Parts: sequence; structure tokens; C-alpha cells
Amino acid sequence: MFMRVLNKWIQKEPSKNAITILKDRYFLKDGEGNYLESTWDEVSKRIARHVAAAEVNYTSDIEEIKNAEEHFYQLIKSRIFLPNSPTIFNAGKTMDRQLFKKDIEETTLEDYKTIFDSRTKHNMLSACFVIPMDDSMSAIFDAVKNAALIMKYGGGVGYDFSVLRPKGSSIAGTGGKSSGPISFMHVFNTAASTIEQGGARRAAQMAVLRYDHPDVFDFINSKKDNKGNNVLNYFNISVNIDNPKEFKKMLEENGDLTLEHPASSIRKTIKANDLMNKMVENAWKTGDPGMLFLGRHNQYYAMSEHTPVTATNPCGEEPLPPFGSCNLGSIDVAKLVEDMDLGNPNSDDISEFQEIIYWAVRFLDDVIESNIYPLKEIEEMSKKQRFIGLGIMGLADALYKKELPYNSEQARKFMAKLTAELAYFSHVASTELAKERGNFPDFQRSKYPHGFIPFPMLDDEIDEDIKAWNEKIRQHFQGEATKYKRNVQTNTIAPTGSISNLADTSSGIEPNFLLSYVRYMTNKEGDRVPLSYINPILMEKIGTNMTEELKAEIIEKGSIQNIDSIPNEIKKIFVTSMDIPPKDHLLAQHVIQSYLDASCSKTINMPKSSTIEDVKAIYLQALELNLKGLTIYRDGSLETQVLTSASKE
Ligand code: UDP
Repeated sequence: MFMRVLNKWIQKEPSKNAITILKDRYFLKDGEGNYLESTWDEVSKRIARHVAAAEVNYTSDIEEIKNAEEHFYQLIKSRIFLPNSPTIFNAGKTMDRQLFKKDIEETTLEDYKTIFDSRTKHNMLSACFVIPMDDSMSAIFDAVKNAALIMKYGGGVGYDFSVLRPKGSSIAGTGGKSSGPISFMHVFNTAASTIEQGGARRAAQMAVLRYDHPDVFDFINSKKDNKGNNVLNYFNISVNIDNPKEFKKMLEENGDLTLEHPASSIRKTIKANDLMNKMVENAWKTGDPGMLFLGRHNQYYAMSEHTPVTATNPCGEEPLPPFGSCNLGSIDVAKLVEDMDLGNPNSDDISEFQEIIYWAVRFLDDVIESNIYPLKEIEEMSKKQRFIGLGIMGLADALYKKELPYNSEQARKFMAKLTAELAYFSHVASTELAKERGNFPDFQRSKYPHGFIPFPMLDDEIDEDIKAWNEKIRQHFQGEATKYKRNVQTNTIAPTGSISNLADTSSGIEPNFLLSYVRYMTNKEGDRVPLSYINPILMEKIGTNMTEELKAEIIEKGSIQNIDSIPNEIKKIFVTSMDIPPKDHLLAQHVIQSYLDASCSKTINMPKSSTIEDVKAIYLQALELNLKGLTIYRDGSLETQVLTSASKE
């Protein structure tokens, strides 16, 4: 069964662009910079074997371990499932190559044990971390050091800066005045830029500050210096509005907001609307700050009463408590929709999708064991709660193949059903694993024994299929899940910025940014390498009508909406981010987030011509919907865009 759908994709080699990226970032090299790998097959085998070796913790049956390796290998080789980049970079790194070159038939239990026992600090496999800081100099600089260790191996880090007392507060020990959270963000930023030069990839950080912290205006303005230059380039910033509905009410009543901090005598009273307007104005200018609704994150987090989440990772998809970590993996639904009726609760293909999800969940659960954590505290938290983040990529390409316009009611129903199916089967898998391996150690203290459902779900009425998924989900959480759960959180949708390129698919749940582009990749030597691309599904759809002139015009424009010779039915389906009205981006996020216990990475793209009022309307709508946060981007508002159509170069 498992082989049927994977087989077709196992035969397909990654594209030229994917190979270029693999060569630059992912193929292992020795100390002198010589390649130790040259094919995707070798990479797939290395990851599968390293992660399967964790199964020595549960069994001494060699056949069972090999079976796990074989399933992991097939998932990865077919690129139907890819783990986050740190797993691809760091699995098997610095280990004896011979152990990874052996055929699976020749591999022994001792080999798996050797792999497991020879793990070192180089084998850090997770993408997402949150580390705490306290309002003291030594705690802040401990956090800088901890963050440096994480970023060195390719992980992203989030922090809640709200705990730091505001600028100008007294410091008992020195009689001086505190320089405030923003000044410390610059220390973290400098550390990140230094680490990046020797590290695996761009160091990324998220800074969170509560909306009622006295320095909130400085925070909102923190990404520009006095001269208007961009600063804090290694940070995304998000204002935490714990209770979005209450804040919306405050805005409607033009209410006052008191800014204060428990460690300071500073108190300021402002109009809530002034805060909102400043956030909106800056977001209009540069995309920052985003909003984060941590109260809602905690509402759907099974351990919030004991270890509330305090921040997210840099791209916002993974809320975590202090010292939390999460490893992510993504299933490429664009490949699967060719042969499977995804999202349909009555489909014959259900068991195959369930099997893929089961092995993906088992893989991510094994990563928790095979991971080497940068800090003892992170290891403890990660093993007590066992966060994993299984998500999807390729949604936009899947919609092209299904001929559903991203900005349509039909597409939103598909998105909801697909995410509900993913959530249902991955939670079922986590329960199955718990029966074999035990619950996550904090399970009894969590909300699960009380029939807790870790996401809001959509209203039953919207569609019969959604009703059916909701029913299955309720039964699961009120039944078996009250006794068995291996992972406190299971589903996250990552941006898949790099791995979607390795999979030759569209990223995460985003629409395609452009149908054709030249993407510039800066290689290790610092040279800009152009990678040109035209969406293959569009190419196929247009077929023999794709003349050289038409191709040139698509490359020139990036979108097909203003090309007269393309029929309207095709234009309707092949929409790009900028062709889609912002409210449809928001609604897509809403339906998808309704079935995620963690969160998703989603940018609400807005046209260049959008006004500050347009941005405000989106910010206000986001406070109303069941979202966990908001990130917008107005076209052209940042000087450097990674992607560019030929006309924008
Ligand atoms: N991340 C990072 N640096 C990067 C890209 C990503 O630290 O340059 C981290 C960050 O926590 C982000 C997460 O990895 O939220 C997932 O990002 P993405 O899915 O784009 O990573 P990929 O696995 O595709 O490389």
C-alpha cells in the first residue's frame, strides 16, 4: 500500500534548481570542504538511518528498526515528506560515513546503536526554539549565549522581551537607570550577525513585547534608527495582544490603556487607538510589527496552566514555552493530489494518507530522541512535552492541479478539510505511538485527560465533510486521547522557505508569489547565483500554446492576469499572492488555523497601492477572527525582496 503513491515520486530526481541548493547548503562536506555526498539518494538515506537509530530506545528487533528506516527513506527520497532544514543539514554529520553507506540488508543492530551513541553537538535537528530571560544582566547575557548556540546549528529563536523593565527604570544594584528591552535587542542582533558568518544559515530571531509594556512605542519603531536606516535585521518583531477581542472593544470605545511594568514605577496612560495606529502605520511602511495573540495560543495549548507559551519562533508558526523546542516536517500535498482525493472523509485513499501521516509523526517523534539539544533545560522541556510540528507544503500548486482558485469559497473548504484530515490523522498517530511508547511525561497534568480539543474547528454547518471531520475529531479527543497522547502539540505549518525548493513545490500554505521568477541565491562564496523558474503546472496547462513570446511575457510580468492571450478560466485558477485580495489571504489563514494546535506561517500580502486605512482594516479584522497572529507585507515596502520577477529587477 505505502509504496503505490510514493513509487512514482521516488523515481523523480530533484530539479536543477533543487540540486544547486542541495550542493550549496545540504550535501555533507569534510573538514577540507570536499563533498562527501553528491545525490539526493545519499542525503535521504543518511537522514532516514540517523533518525531510525532512535528506535533502539524502544526495541531490539532489528527488523522493526529497518522497517522504520525504509519508511522514512521512502518518504524523504520521494520528497513527499521533508523534515526541517536542520535535520537535513545535521543528521549523520561528523559520523562514520561507512555506517551510512551500507545497504540496509547489511545494517546490524550494533550499527544503529553506534549511530545513536556517536551523536555529538553537531547533530542538532530542530528549527524552533524559545528561550527565556530574566530582568537581570546575567540572565540576559546567558540568553545571548544560549541563543548563539542554537543559531550556530541553524535553529531560529524567539524571546519575550516583556520581562525586561522599561527604559529609565531604576536599577537597585548600581543606582543607575535601565537602558530598556530595545537596547538589549541590539546585543542579540549583533550576536546573530556574528554567528551567521560561521553558521549553517541566516540567523533568525523573533522578539515579542506585550502591548502594555511602557516601551511598546519604542519597540514598534525599533527596526529603524533615527536616520531612518534599517536596523535589527536579524529580528522579526511582534506585539503580543493577549486578548484580541478585549483590545478591539477598547479601540471601539476609544478607551485608555495603561502602560506599566511590575519592576518599574513608570506608568503612562495612552489611547489604545494611538497604539493601534502606530502599529498599522509602521506595518504599512515595512511589514513590522506583526501581532501575536498569545492568550489564544495558550487557550489551545494543553499545558498552558503550568508552562504557558511566551513567544513564537522567528516566522511565527510555533508558539513555545520557555526552553521549548520543536522539530518540523512537511508533507507535499501538491504531489499527493495527483493520485489522492485529499480532504474527503469518505475517500478510498484515506488509509494511504493515514499511513503517510503515521510514519511522518513517528519520524518526528524519533527526532526528539535523536536530537542533540543545545542546552540541558531545552532537552528536559522537549522530552517532557514532546512538541512536533507536522504540516503541509505545496498547497498553492495543489490548488492549481485541482483547478480551484485560492481566493474562492471552494478552495477554502478544501483547505479546511485537508487541515482537518491532517490534524485528525496526526493526532491519531500520536495516540497510537503513546500506546507503544508511553504518553508525554506531563500528560496527566495536561488538559488532554479532560477531553480537551487543542484547536477551535470550523462551524459544523459549512460543509457535510467538515461536519464529518469535526465529529471524528471530537470522538478522538473525548475518547482515546483522554488516555493516550505522545506529543503535546502535533501540527505546525512552516514557511518551508528552503525545503519547498528541495521538493520542487510551492511553499507552505502560501499562494505562489510569482508564476515565474529569477531567484537569487547567495552561495557560500558570497556570489549571487540566479535560479530561474516558471511554474510547471502552468506550463503543462497552457501546453502547446506556450510560445516563446508568451513565456517571455510571463517571465516579464510574474503574473498572468494582464496577459490578453490567456483565457479567463486559466487566469482565475493561476493566481499569485499579489492577485489575491488581502481579505482572502486572511480567510485562508482563518480556515487553516482552525485545525492547528500550534500555528502557521502566513503573510497577508497587500498591493503597493494599499493605504494605511486598508492595512488597519486587515488588522481590525484579524482581532475578530479566530487567528493566533498576523503578519502583513505591502508590495515594495522592503528594499530587498528575495524573489523578483524580471520586470522588477
Ligand atoms: N529558520 C531560521 N533561519 C532561516 C530560515 C528558517 O532560523 O534562514 C527557522 C525559523 O525558526 C523558522 C523555521 O526555521 O520559523 C522554519 O522555516 P522554514 O520552514 O522556512 O525552514 P526550512 O526547513 O524550509 O529551511
